[in-house]
Amino acid sequence: DAHGSTRAVEAPPRVSFEFFPPKNPQMENQLWDTVKALEPLLPQYVSVTYGAGGSTRDATFETVRRIAAKTHLRPAAHLTCVGHGRKDIAQLLERYWEAGVRHIVALRGDHPAGGGSTPPDGLAYAADLVAFIKTVADFEVSVAAYPETHPQAQSAEADLDNLKRKLDAGATRAITQYFFDPTSFLRFHERARRAGISVPIVPGILPVTNFAQVVRFSAMCGTAIPDWLTELFEGLDDEQDTRKLIAAMVATEQCRALQAEGITDFHFYTLNRADLILGICRRMGLKPAPLPDRDGFAEAPAPMQRD
Ligand code: FAD
Repeated sequence: DAHGSTRAVEAPPRVSFEFFPPKNPQMENQLWDTVKALEPLLPQYVSVTYGAGGSTRDATFETVRRIAAKTHLRPAAHLTCVGHGRKDIAQLLERYWEAGVRHIVALRGDHPAGGGSTPPDGLAYAADLVAFIKTVADFEVSVAAYPETHPQAQSAEADLDNLKRKLDAGATRAITQYFFDPTSFLRFHERARRAGISVPIVPGILPVTNFAQVVRFSAMCGTAIPDWLTELFEGLDDEQDTRKLIAAMVATEQCRALQAEGITDFHFYTLNRADLILGICRRMGLKPAPLPDRDGFAEAPAPMQRD
């Protein structure tokens, strides 16, 4: 069939998971349970978001450090440059390097609604941040990409040129903003390949458990909400269980459609919850595996930190 569901199972996908830093002890427990539940899927890496301007600087650092110290996972720290001077950024990067962290997701971030400014010695765009990171240490750097074009871009072409600049500055992977129409990703992927971009462009997958919230957020980040999605969630505001099932089905269909087109790498916006992700990955051919011996991790950050 069109989605390949009756075909022999493809090679399991390569996945990565995104978390946000917890704001209180209860959220911290939830995050930790989620990390432990997803760890046996052996993701390539897991990433932790950063509040633009530094609002989560310590919480992000602590979460990343704990993942590096306490799990088999390789963490990547998100870092945004808005509002920061170069010295701030260099210091934070040095702390990450000392904690054994070797991967940064480099972003511009957004100024808060009421304004905010970047110091004169700051970095204006993510491409500048990537170049700056590489002058501090040889981190692996991933960057953001926008299948439906970043809302502030002058044009789709200018936005793709910007992605190229980020890769030319030393980034080796692009993770996309979430989207709901697989075709928008596949077209973007094709355009990027035609423009000579050869690094992995990894679809960012957001299972929609809170539709109203996603609609609000999508308006800001330029993601289109297709009519069929609105119709699917119609009348489900008070039906949490059904919403969750629909969310899993929609994300699974989206991922299967991309797999059928040869996409092998997937980045999941987990919202610090494991259940949907475990189900979706299972349908994609990825099941939990026994955890390898930690000492056998060739690329494990050394020396290990112990709490
Ligand atoms: P850039 O690549 O710098 O691009 C920003 C805009 O400027 C684009 O429209 C681009 O086309 C344009 N542009 C670039 N260079 C120039 C130039 N020289 N002249 C004119 N225009 C230019 N936000 C957070 O706060 N914390 C996070 O942890 C976080 N994680 C994210 C993870 C992913 C995978 C994604 C997709 C987004 C994430 N964001 C995060 C959101 C991100 O910070 C916003 O989308 C932000 O508006 C743009 O960041 P960027 O790195 O894409 O910026």
